[in-house]
Parts: sequence; C-alpha cells; structure tokens
Amino acid sequence: SGRWSQAMAILKEFEEKCGTPLSKLRQVADAMTVEMHAGLASEGGSKLKMIISYVDNLPTGDEKGLFYALDLGGTNFRVLRVQLGGRDNHVVKQEFDEVSIPPNLMIGTSDGLFDFIAEALKKFVDTEGKDFHLPPDRQRELGFTFSFPVKQTSIASGALIKWTKGFSIEEAVGQDVVAELTKAIERVGLDMRVAALVNDTIGTLAGGRYSNPDVIAAVILGTGTNAAYVERAHAIPKWHGLLPKSGDMVINMEWGNFRSSHLPQTEYDQALDAESLNPGEQIFEKMISGMYLGEILRVVLCKMAEEAAFFGDTVPPKLKVPFILRTPHMSAMHHDTSSDLRVVGSKLKDVLEISNTSLKTRKVVVELCDIISFRGARLAAAGILGILKKLGRDTLREGEKQRSVIALDGGLYEHYTKFRNAMEGTLKELLGEASGTIVIEHSNDGSGIGAALLAASHSQYL
Ligand code: ADP
Ligand code: MG
Repeated sequence: SGRWSQAMAILKEFEEKCGTPLSKLRQVADAMTVEMHAGLASEGGSKLKMIISYVDNLPTGDEKGLFYALDLGGTNFRVLRVQLGGRDNHVVKQEFDEVSIPPNLMIGTSDGLFDFIAEALKKFVDTEGKDFHLPPDRQRELGFTFSFPVKQTSIASGALIKWTKGFSIEEAVGQDVVAELTKAIERVGLDMRVAALVNDTIGTLAGGRYSNPDVIAAVILGTGTNAAYVERAHAIPKWHGLLPKSGDMVINMEWGNFRSSHLPQTEYDQALDAESLNPGEQIFEKMISGMYLGEILRVVLCKMAEEAAFFGDTVPPKLKVPFILRTPHMSAMHHDTSSDLRVVGSKLKDVLEISNTSLKTRKVVVELCDIISFRGARLAAAGILGILKKLGRDTLREGEKQRSVIALDGGLYEHYTKFRNAMEGTLKELLGEASGTIVIEHSNDGSGIGAALLAASHSQYL
C-alpha cells in the first residue's frame, strides 16, 4: 500500500544519511586528530576540551593500603573500597555498592545531590570489615570519579564546566566539585579526604594500566561517551607548568563534544538535539552513546507513525514520550533471534503500548536498530583511530614491535554485543595491516579501582 512504501522511503532515506563508508570514517578520524591538536594548543581552541588531568604518573603496582573510590557520572553511582597489597599482592580485597540516583536529585540542588552521595558513602564506610586495614591515626582517603567536564586546577580540585547526560544543576556549574563533596562529607560527619579527582576515562586508564603496562588510552561507552589517553607533556602547548618527571600527562579529551561536518547527522539527530537539555552540545555523544541510541530509534519511529501511519491510523501516544525507549530495550530487540521476533513484539507492546505488530513491521524495527547502532559503533571506532593517529600508532613501523592497548568500559560496550562487534570490526578494517598491534581490552569496572589507585599515589601519607 501507499503507506507502506512511504514508510520504506523514510527508512531508506534514513539509512542513506547514516552511511559510514570507510572513506567517511577516515575523514572523521582526521578531523578528530586535528581537533586534538587544536584543543592542546590553547584553552578554548577546539570543541574538544583536551583537559589536563594532572595525572602524570599511572599506577605502577606498588600502591599499598586501604582506599575508597566513589564513581558519579550516570544513572547509578558506585562506592568501592580496596585493600592494595603492593607489588606482590596487588588487590587483596575489594567491595563495592551501587546506588541509583533519584531523578529529582539530578536536576535539583547541589547540596541535595552531594548530601545524598555523602550519606551513601558514610553508610558504606560503616560496613567496613576486619579484612580492611587503616593504620592508626590516619584519615581514610578517596578517589572521586566525577564523569562530567571539569576544568582541573590540581589533582584534587576542579570546577564543573557543564553538566551532561541528563544532569542539570545550574548552581553547581563553576563550583569546585571536590569542595562541594568535602562539605557534604563533613555535614554527614564522615572523616575522609578526597585525594584525587578524576573522571571515568582516567580511572579506566589507570585501572587498565595497573593490569597491563601497554594500555595507552581508555574509552567509555556507557550512558555517555568519552576518551582519555597518555600524551607527551611537551606536546601540550597550553601546559605552562613544569614538565613532569615522567614526561607524560594524561589528557581527558571530553570527546563527546566533538563535532564535524563529516559526521553523518540526520534530521532526526537535529530534532533530538533541539529537544535535549543541552542543545548544540555533545553532538558526537548524541550519535553514539547509550543515553541516546534508543531515543534516536523512538524519534524515527515517531516520524514513520506520523507521516506514514506505520502503526495504524493514530500515532501511539507513548511514542511521543521522550526517552521512553531506552537503549537496553533497543539492544534486546536487536538481538532477538526468534523467527517471529517475539522480543520485538513484546518490547513494542510493553514499552510503547503498541500491540499486534506484524512480522513485517518488527523486521523494520530491527533494521532501524541495526542502522542506528552500526553508525554509532563505527563512529566510535573512527574516534579511536583519531587518537592512534595523534600518537603515531596507527601504522606499522619498520623494526618496531609496539603494542597499543585501549581499555574499554561502559554498559553499552559491555552489554550491546552487536554494537561492540561492529566497533571492533570497524577498527580492524580501518587499521588494516596495523590492526595486529592494537588490542581492545575490556576493563571491567576498572574505573573504580583506578580512582582508588590514584588516591593511593596521591595520598597525604606518602
Ligand atoms: P554510566 O555510563 O551511567 O556510568 P554504565 O557504564 O553502567 O554507567 O552504562 C550504563 C548505560 O549502558 C545505560 O545508560 C545504557 O545506555 C547502557 N546499557 C546498559 N545495559 C545495556 C544493554 N543491555 N544494552 C545496551 N545498552 C545498555
Ligand atoms: Mg560509568
């Protein structure tokens, strides 16, 4: 019928606009490299903030003692304690707890959010058992993983530049997040010092390096997306401090804010962006990360319902609710292997209240999942190629046996198998003969351990 061919026309056009041939991905990678240079050259020189982390040494394996970590940066936050045993014993014992953040606190007040976190941290400290040892008269120390853009001023201080990923607490912007957390820790009567402020990419890089000395970069694919890597300090023109002894400086790219005319943006991406909490920002993130993939799918399905009566004469009301269709729903539909696509059918029914969908309709939904996730995965691979190019590690060099390991983490990478496979496959394609020297390693929750390790190496008792 006319409606069906109209729906197919929308699908086909969307597919074309989302196209990511290798030539385009190379342009994206080159643009990423160019922006990296610009962001390192001067403050505000690029959409890529290329934030100096003040981490100039990564863990060695010698770290010792009891350390805490707190990971805030998405829908959940985690608290963790770890007993580090030094060179021969590494992680002797670790425990963690995960708490979800009430949505009202994500858009409320600074004190509201930080009090909630400090309270949970205090409860967790109260459960510390005999397997953990704090030497007498010592303060507990914490690595604070705060995964939003922060202008660091030292290893343990930094001002929030802006919120992302659905957080919006205006009064906190510009404030030192360590001071805010410290005040809340005092308010709840906990005796603890924040020894290091990092974000999840830096934590993952540190945790990854602890278990593998070849780790040179870390990428997060979770609610949001970001990357960090080890740069040579002399290659950072905007750094006016002393050159660190190690010669290295870890850079938090904040690559979620990357944008380029080479990105295959569609009208749906533009609509999503316009209606987001942060229009015009985090454009790369909005095409790649877990917060947005399901939402892109909803926006396209909504258009097909409105313009081609894809789900019948009326537009299903739930389809108009922003963010109702989450990436885990999309992933479940995409991985449906049943012959009648019954998972797709049940998700459409349970989440969007669209019942009795035909197999033909379900197949189109799966095709959309494929287009959206494939594009996101391939763009993430292009971003990684950009980093490797910046470091000169994207090609084989005569006589060199250099191995580069990239630590990956985040719920999207971990759980969305088709996304992960497409990302890894695309990186291989892009690297060609050099792909043998590049390894992607899943750093399972390395960020928490990484933050604790950085707290250890910046302890007041060293
Ligand atoms: P965060 O990024 O919030 O710190 P995670 O790294 O755990 O936390 O990532 C959580 C995100 O991962 C979710 O917001 C969701 O987008 C994505 N995710 C979680 N489970 C799945 C899944 N089964 N399939 C696809 N994406 C998932
Ligand atoms: Mg996280």
